[in-house]
Amino acid sequence: MLNEAAIAAFRASLRGDLIEAGDASYDAARKVYNAMIDRRPRLIACCADVADVMTAVNFGREHKLVLAIRGGGHNGGGLGVCYDGLVIDLSSINYVRVDPKKKTALVGGGALWRHVDHATHAFGLAVPSGIISTTGVAGLTLGGGIGYLTRRHGLTIDNLLAVEMVLADGRFVTASAKENADLFWAVRGGGGNFGVVTSFLFQAQPVHTVYGGPMLWPMEDAAEIMRWYRSFIAKAPNDVYGFFAFLAVPPGPPFPEHLYNRKMCGIVWCYTGPLKKAEKVFRPIRKFKAPALDMAGPIPHPVLQSLHDGVYPPGLQWYWKADYVRTLPDEAIALHLRYAAKLPSLHSTMHLYPINGAAGRVKNGATPWSYRDATWAEVIVGVDPDPANKEKVAAWAKEYWSALHPYSAGGAYINFMMEEGQQRIRATYGKNYDRLAKIKKRYDPANLFRVNQNIKPH
Ligand SMILES: Cc1cc2nc3c(=O)[nH]c(=O)nc-3n(C[C@H](O)[C@H](O)[C@H](O)COP(=O)(O)OP(=O)(O)OC[C@H]3O[C@@H](n4cnc5c(N)ncnc54)[C@H](O)[C@@H]3O)c2cc1C
Repeated sequence: MLNEAAIAAFRASLRGDLIEAGDASYDAARKVYNAMIDRRPRLIACCADVADVMTAVNFGREHKLVLAIRGGGHNGGGLGVCYDGLVIDLSSINYVRVDPKKKTALVGGGALWRHVDHATHAFGLAVPSGIISTTGVAGLTLGGGIGYLTRRHGLTIDNLLAVEMVLADGRFVTASAKENADLFWAVRGGGGNFGVVTSFLFQAQPVHTVYGGPMLWPMEDAAEIMRWYRSFIAKAPNDVYGFFAFLAVPPGPPFPEHLYNRKMCGIVWCYTGPLKKAEKVFRPIRKFKAPALDMAGPIPHPVLQSLHDGVYPPGLQWYWKADYVRTLPDEAIALHLRYAAKLPSLHSTMHLYPINGAAGRVKNGATPWSYRDATWAEVIVGVDPDPANKEKVAAWAKEYWSALHPYSAGGAYINFMMEEGQQRIRATYGKNYDRLAKIKKRYDPANLFRVNQNIKPH
């Protein structure tokens, strides 16, 4: 039974804090990135080290508590926090140790990508991640990891060498290609289903200053740009990355005043080839249709990574829906234009992230990530600062997604899903689902770790 004495003993055995409802820090500690999520856990264990994580897992299991694992707290569906149970918060375990000789980065299970970018950049290195630097390393990596370096260096999981983790029975293990290989396969896309990852060992890549940033065009040109982009990105060399977006221009510097609040389409670039060749690479793109705003140029990788952080601070209302996409026929483009014209707020957007190139060279069964043959991960994002608008932005995202879904590949990037149920999870893992379920049964037969896109043990 969970009584005061048990809680007091738990608190005494932790190096980090144990937070309960009523504590001054409770509301700040239970808050996650998406302000639509409002969950009140019974306890929050702010783990300081691996010993704390082991203690917390054992305590949660012995007291039959629902367990949530919090890395960066960025998950759209709020999977880093739970109702009533115990949150295992890793945010203090955020060290990054770079080995410049081996070009590796050892990263704590609660680090954010900005911590990694900061530490690796000093050595002229980067770990492939996403496009917003406040995202947690753990959740992003365990779900796959797509971003600016995907076409050049693969998904984040393709750069993962090993993890250390605490299993449901409290054991601390390493998983790598050599040790617990089944577990290592499962964590490269299977999410937080298999245990609490306390460290990630990544292969870093030689990336320092890239050529990147947004180019924007008026909505009137969007059909033409999209048609051009679909054939361009299918054949582009792997060192050219560009995600397509519908957006409204933020009303403030560095944007020119005449574009404030204007709905536009754009491509955000990241070229990782030799900088002296960049102008030549981008010349045909600029020539095809001169952008109304062209902000692409040489930029340090961590700056590109954090370019959108200011537009998307924590505390906004988020609702998003996603799909993998193989092709973009003209009919799909027409539907995109219809919903882009109705962007319901300044922060709402639609992104098509390329996942071909280096990521597409890996076989579907090599990791749980089952859509290596898709061209894009599409995400339709309804966002607004005002809670009064949350239904409006969610309705737009749902309607937009439903219209485009028939043109999708079936599943969706697990990290862009909210609560969508077992069928969607199965569709996303495809043939890899059964293998994941067997590994889940081996390492977490009672499904202790179920506050996630859950894989049922069988
Ligand atoms: C603004 C924004 C931008 C994003 N951009 C990208 C992007 O460019 N590319 C991309 O791939 N994704 C992106 N994402 C999606 C992101 O990958 C997911 O939201 C991811 O879940 C965030 O990880 P987190 O650690 O911050 O999340 P949390 O909310 O802390 O956790 C999410 C899930 O991961 C599990 N988890 C967390 N930490 C651990 C751990 N240490 N051990 C085991 N399980 C753990 C939890 O159980 C939970 O199920 C973005 C999300 C947002 C909100």
